[in-house]
Amino acid sequence: MPDPHSDAVRSATRTVEELGKLFDRLWASRSPIRTAYRAVIRSMKGANVRQAADALSTLEAVMRVVIPDELRKSVDVGLDQAKRDLTIHGLGDPVIVPPTIIQPAIDAALTTVSIQTDRAIALTQLEMGDEYTIGDDSRQGVLRPTPVIGAVTFWMTSLSSIAYTAGIGDKMGNSRRQAVAQIDSDTTQTCLNVHGQIVKAQEKFHLTGTPRYADDMIRPPFHRGCRTQIIILPEDQLDEDVTRSMRREAIEQGKKPKPSAMAGKAHYRVVGHTVQEFRNGRWHKFKTYATIREARLGAAKLNRDRRS
Ligand SMILES: [Zn+2]
Repeated sequence: MPDPHSDAVRSATRTVEELGKLFDRLWASRSPIRTAYRAVIRSMKGANVRQAADALSTLEAVMRVVIPDELRKSVDVGLDQAKRDLTIHGLGDPVIVPPTIIQPAIDAALTTVSIQTDRAIALTQLEMGDEYTIGDDSRQGVLRPTPVIGAVTFWMTSLSSIAYTAGIGDKMGNSRRQAVAQIDSDTTQTCLNVHGQIVKAQEKFHLTGTPRYADDMIRPPFHRGCRTQIIILPEDQLDEDVTRSMRREAIEQGKKPKPSAMAGKAHYRVVGHTVQEFRNGRWHKFKTYATIREARLGAAKLNRDRRS
């Protein structure tokens, strides 16, 4: 028997997986953003003002290409979902979404780069030393890729659901929106709680649990590193059984012990403070420490707690 509601949930799950792959590629050590930062940090070593200005403007130029590129991929992910969902309901093709939809997100993400480059140039002019700009063996300086990657992933989650919503337009008629999280050991309490929640077209999702940006939000991301997406469904296609099984799935997952003690697999990155960063960069699992030594002690403690 055809079940449009569960088909739409599956379609959203695919979107979340595709977003997750984009995130993983961004956080990977060979990602274009990290590569560009490694290059600028090499060129900034002992650089005078003119050399620094050249290196920083190269970084900005690369980011002006890479960031829009990455954000466009997330729009495509959302539009593909709209296409699948309209097909499920036999409603034809998605509404055409203007490419300018991503411009505010591009501008915002590029700001995270220019904040750093402005600071780096000032530090060089004032001869404050490389420690401030590019860091030293144990700490990062102001030039660092992680805030940029964090901003890009934030906008990717937003844009995919914005593009999805725009692509559906008003084709679903009297519709409802439902939050669909990817349920696994990485899912935050917030997204376990909201998984399956249904709201009206303009109504906000009500969030509980941590981490969360706010209590009531119109769309994901609901927190840093959030992968949750939404589906839009004609009201008469809602299937209570589907929602009930989504809730059951989330509640079951919530009962499983959290692998928050994956510290053995983590590596350490120094960001002013030292930040323990997990391979895939899922921000909600970060722990902040003052030094690498504390990070290691923290990791050891997490592992001890896990065994006990
Ligand atoms: Zn989330």
